[in-house]
Amino acid sequence: MQQWDTGKSDGPAVLYHIDHDANVCIGCGLCAAFCPLDVYEMQDDAPAIVAPERCVGCKTCEGQCPVGALTITGRGPEYDPFANREKAPALPQEEQELYAEWAQTLKDLLGLNAEPVAITLVPADAPLPEVPVPAERMRYCQQVVRASKGESIMLPPNRHSCPDGTSILGMTDVPPKLASGELYILFQKVANQEAAAQMVAERPRLPQRSVDATVATPLAQAAATPDVVIVVGNAEQMMWLTMSTAYYTGERSHYHVSGFNSLCVEATLFPYTEGEMNISLGCYGCRAASDFGDDQMFMGIPRDMMPMVISGLRYLSVKAIPDSRAKIYVPRTEAE
Ligand code: SF4
Ligand code: SF4
Repeated sequence: MQQWDTGKSDGPAVLYHIDHDANVCIGCGLCAAFCPLDVYEMQDDAPAIVAPERCVGCKTCEGQCPVGALTITGRGPEYDPFANREKAPALPQEEQELYAEWAQTLKDLLGLNAEPVAITLVPADAPLPEVPVPAERMRYCQQVVRASKGESIMLPPNRHSCPDGTSILGMTDVPPKLASGELYILFQKVANQEAAAQMVAERPRLPQRSVDATVATPLAQAAATPDVVIVVGNAEQMMWLTMSTAYYTGERSHYHVSGFNSLCVEATLFPYTEGEMNISLGCYGCRAASDFGDDQMFMGIPRDMMPMVISGLRYLSVKAIPDSRAKIYVPRTEAE
């Protein structure tokens, strides 16, 4: 396999222990086939761990092994590539207060159960906000889930465990098995090579190494100016968010939805690059890797659209939202 550019996390980093139980293994080869970074090679009907240093802890092999012969465990804190990096000044209090007010307005008017999430993509070599870097790796979607539950997290490339997300968000290159679409066929998410190639070609991504870290915090505790705000909610809440801008423009929204790369492409990258709000229904990865409810979906809102969204929601909440929620067209029964 050609060398995979692991982003600005190069350094001493054998971080995962791969426990392979040879007594249980049936030699099916699925681990070698599915590992996006070619950590395994099948030798004499058994997987040989030929490149443990490439492992990003995505646990794909563990999940695909039909007999539970593999266990991937973290091996403690990793090398911090940004230990001596310049830190960004704290946000001005006025800006912090504005984000806290937006968060409260979204929660109050929509009735959200989750914190709206502030996303900042730290450009290459830019000063870093003061946000904790965890000891373990996680997927970008897991970072967003945890922020929606109140945590503030910054992930440089060597804290990301999803090769898809890190390459899409401009931190690393694309591993060959993902670039070719081979892995999506194995997962049976697309019918054939043609569909896989189309999906990969249509999928936007930021230039390699243009981003040094992803930052996700509750919007009310934003530590950096957000590029995008992600709202986690149900279909009705998404409807009002959609209507918040239509309130002013009367325009229909043209969302880009695929079921692939939900939080990284649809809820983050699209709003970030296009400056438009975009809905996402979730994707295989984010649903398989999180406890998002089946009815939860996501709206990515570029920061510059937030004043319009907040203002539109405030007007809608005067009459339209309460009337609709009161089911004014449902006949009242005598019991009521
Ligand atoms: S955890 Fe992921 S990267 Fe590591 S060996 Fe398994 S499939 Fe490969
Ligand atoms: S997927 Fe599991 S059973 Fe199949 S070769 Fe790998 S370790 Fe063995």
